[in-house]
Amino acid sequence: MIFKKRPHLFILKGCGIFYFLIFILAGCSQGLSVKETRVLMDTLCEISCYSPDGNKAVRAIDEAFKEMQRIEKVFSKFDKNSELSKINKIAGLENIKVSEEAFRLTERAIYYSRISDGAFDVTVAPLMETWGFVRKHKSMPGEDDIKNALKSVGYKNIELDSKKLSIRFLNKDTKIDFGGIAKGYAIDRARDVLVSNGIRNGLVNLGGNIFALGNAPGKKNWKIGVQDPRNKSRLLYSFELTDMAISTSGNYERFFEIGGKRYSHIMNPLTGEPCQGIISVTVALDSAERADALSTAIFVMGEKNGLTLAKSIKDIKVLILKEDGKIISYP
Ligand code: ADP
Ligand code: MG
Repeated sequence: MIFKKRPHLFILKGCGIFYFLIFILAGCSQGLSVKETRVLMDTLCEISCYSPDGNKAVRAIDEAFKEMQRIEKVFSKFDKNSELSKINKIAGLENIKVSEEAFRLTERAIYYSRISDGAFDVTVAPLMETWGFVRKHKSMPGEDDIKNALKSVGYKNIELDSKKLSIRFLNKDTKIDFGGIAKGYAIDRARDVLVSNGIRNGLVNLGGNIFALGNAPGKKNWKIGVQDPRNKSRLLYSFELTDMAISTSGNYERFFEIGGKRYSHIMNPLTGEPCQGIISVTVALDSAERADALSTAIFVMGEKNGLTLAKSIKDIKVLILKEDGKIISYP
């Protein structure tokens, strides 16, 4: 079963190459299984559940999708009426009172920024804009454009007032981009909805970010295989997961090429340039949000600093695939 599908990204993001990275190894012939796929957050989302009661599973999946669609509406950077768009429009000028949900996600995004020394930075929005990832046609920005964008990038520009639940940007051009964390957050909420509907076993897969709930039918866990993006017939690694999430940040799905050079959609907030040197970072952890944020962070930090961060995080599993062909797994 192939699991990382983003065919429409070809059109929306102008991708040149498309690989399937993650697929499910375990069979799913036993028990009642229900599976549904919808387009969500710019990619495909597949939810599958295994339950003795098929109707219950159908209802649970529908509710889980509704919750994810709600989250997409709140945090979309493309919808000018989303709460995120309102924050980005106003917080550079004055304090804006936000929902508890937006406040807490911002707070946690700042936490990931802090523990990664700013490698993960939720204020990369001006850089994404400068490099053209918000538009259809990517372009090579000039040095001045990058310098200019960098002036407003920096999570320390976000001021939070937890009593008033308000956000203020210290720089008028600062903007938030939840692209490195929102999918993970949405998956965790979908998992909560499935669990509160009595579902014990299933998978939520949002563009290759997966939460593996319980176990595969007749198995002790879920086996998630990581394919070599350069050679699809080769299995690089396999993760055995129970109530764990897995997330991959990579430069092989969303990128653009100028003069034969590949530019990834993950920015180094220090240099203002797309990161280089790593093909992909896969992280397994107990929450999809943490796996999502930390796979992005480690991608930016690179092998040495990324592994130092990984070693400080309990129960993390990491697989780094480098452009020079080196494969590093931790622990
Ligand atoms: P994907 O969205 O393909 O799953 P990631 O989780 O790694 O991949 O997130 C990449 C997205 O995160 C980018 O499209 C952008 O919106 C945002 N982003 C880019 N660079 C950074 C960064 N250094 N820190 C935080 N978010 C980033
Ligand atoms: Mg991420």
